[in-house]
Amino acid sequence: MIGSATDHMLTVTWSNSTGWGAPAIVPYAPLALDPAATVLHYANECFEGMKAYRSKRTGKIRVFRPDLNAKRLNMSADRIALPSFDNDEFVALLCAFAAVEERWLAWSGNATILDTDENDFLYLRPMMIGTTPRLGLSKPNDAMLLIIACKLPSWHSRPLRLLASSPEEYVRAWPGGFGFAKVGANYGPTLKAQSNASALGYDQVLWLFDADKRLVTEAGGANFFVVWRNEDGRVELVTAPLEPGTVLDGVTRRSVMELVRERMPEISVSERQFSVDDIVTAVDSGRIIEAFACGTAFFIAPVGEIGISGRDVKIPLKVDGKSGEYARTARRWLEEIMYGEIEHAWGVPV
Ligand code: PLP
Repeated sequence: MIGSATDHMLTVTWSNSTGWGAPAIVPYAPLALDPAATVLHYANECFEGMKAYRSKRTGKIRVFRPDLNAKRLNMSADRIALPSFDNDEFVALLCAFAAVEERWLAWSGNATILDTDENDFLYLRPMMIGTTPRLGLSKPNDAMLLIIACKLPSWHSRPLRLLASSPEEYVRAWPGGFGFAKVGANYGPTLKAQSNASALGYDQVLWLFDADKRLVTEAGGANFFVVWRNEDGRVELVTAPLEPGTVLDGVTRRSVMELVRERMPEISVSERQFSVDDIVTAVDSGRIIEAFACGTAFFIAPVGEIGISGRDVKIPLKVDGKSGEYARTARRWLEEIMYGEIEHAWGVPV
């Protein structure tokens, strides 16, 4: 693990005949799994990624929009024939688990934490697996929901360098596939391309779809936004659409779009197809403003460079050479909610 696991894990088992059992928070430990368990053969595993934060005002632990993770977990589970789990109960379990692991979140013990710029967080990883021992291909009759947590380093260091993929060689997701679901089977097959990109000095792969159209989808484990001035002079914040199922419905992506629509009505917010060649044209014509990746792990990560067809295309970073202004603003807005600096319905106390 990049980070260190916390002390506990939460487990709940399911069987087709008796439904979900009683959840238990137990010491973190390896699992005992039958080697014939369906997850080990047919990859029926899905997961979530979210964070717990300590409120800078009250010192209490909170999570960000956990209802969206609950819904997405069920959507992913459904895609791979795993059972659904009640959304409200999932949120309650998640909160109970985060509360048990509270000691892993920095706390100065008094309200002066407000004065520190320590943006600490605990990464929470819920997951569901098929556990029926069976080599035949059919829906599992047994499953397990788990929640673990770990400390991860935050990505603050420098703007991202992305490498646009070659859709002739690797495709992450396709219409009718499962790219819209957060299933483990989406990630293992990307690791070779990711490791090739790392060897060339890039941080993440910018996944393109369609060898002719070279449509931008996502940046590794994050959604991708570009901000440019349209030909009519209007500023547009654009990201790939959820249809045709080639992009994950990121909680951060959604939140950025909702806040920008609400607070910056002068900007067009678009979910539409665009190509990597549109980015090159915007850069070459000076219409580009900035680009950023966003997701729970990377948060809002400004993009400084994209490797496209052998050229490193430079993306402006107008704020101290480290970020664009929209990325910085979105980041600040979200931090205020996540760290409880303001009261907002998206920040849920545990
Ligand atoms: N896209 C992919 C493929 C991801 O794995 C993630 C991370 O969960 C995201 C986007 C961003 O989603 P979120 O903002 O919910 O973390």
